[in-house]
Amino acid sequence: MQSEHVRFEVDGHVGVITLDRPEAANAQSPQVLTELDEAWRAADADDRVKVIVFTTNGRHFSAGHDMSRTDAEGERPEWKADDHYDWETRRYLHYAKSWRAVPKPSIAAVQGKCIAAGLMLCWPCDLIIAAENAEFSDPVLYMGIRGIELHAHTWEFGPRKAKELLFTGDAIGAQEAKELGMVNRVVPLADLFPTTMTLARRIAQKDAFALRLAKQAVNHTMDVQGYTTAVDACFDMHHFGHARAALVTGGMPSLAGLSSMKQKGKNE
Ligand code: ZN
Repeated sequence: MQSEHVRFEVDGHVGVITLDRPEAANAQSPQVLTELDEAWRAADADDRVKVIVFTTNGRHFSAGHDMSRTDAEGERPEWKADDHYDWETRRYLHYAKSWRAVPKPSIAAVQGKCIAAGLMLCWPCDLIIAAENAEFSDPVLYMGIRGIELHAHTWEFGPRKAKELLFTGDAIGAQEAKELGMVNRVVPLADLFPTTMTLARRIAQKDAFALRLAKQAVNHTMDVQGYTTAVDACFDMHHFGHARAALVTGGMPSLAGLSSMKQKGKNE
């Protein structure tokens, strides 16, 4: 697989996907997203792989979507609501849902900051191991939008904490995330990858088909409770936010648009 920012390696029965763009705090450009999806599909298709580990290289797990849109795939025409809706449906929502549905257990290893769409890299994984310095936040309300494309907040944090984190844009630390059930284990930073690999290898000793069914049982239960229906409905709400923000700022919210949005928010 030819990838600039994403590596996929097989170690025994563990497939390791590494997002390696530390110079940009692992921000997700369109090219990065394409490469990530290719890696997830490679891990799914590889018969040697029984468990998938998702990790990123650098101080921070991911700064979210790359707002600069500077890479080769990044050139996009002038902002149009229909194109944007189509883009985010195909690339953001569909990727997060399809990575969650890969029929093999997956474990994310999170260090440093995990901001906004960074959550859309770890939440699709079945388990999350966090370093002690990990912080999770979704400050997208500053863009005039209810939060990131994938509204899993209510499921991950519980309703009250989800509201607090969305209303304030504050970050939550690894330990508190564990207490809320969003994170499975918190470990010293130096132990993050070894602990994740040890757990992955332990799970990989189990029967692959039984693992698949165990994963499906939990995901189906969430779906019966409304997870996917809510995620789809909230995605549309996100796009109403985009459209309204575009009207207010005169186009796709850029970093300049953000401050103008914040300013307008203060004045309203
Ligand atoms: Zn969006």
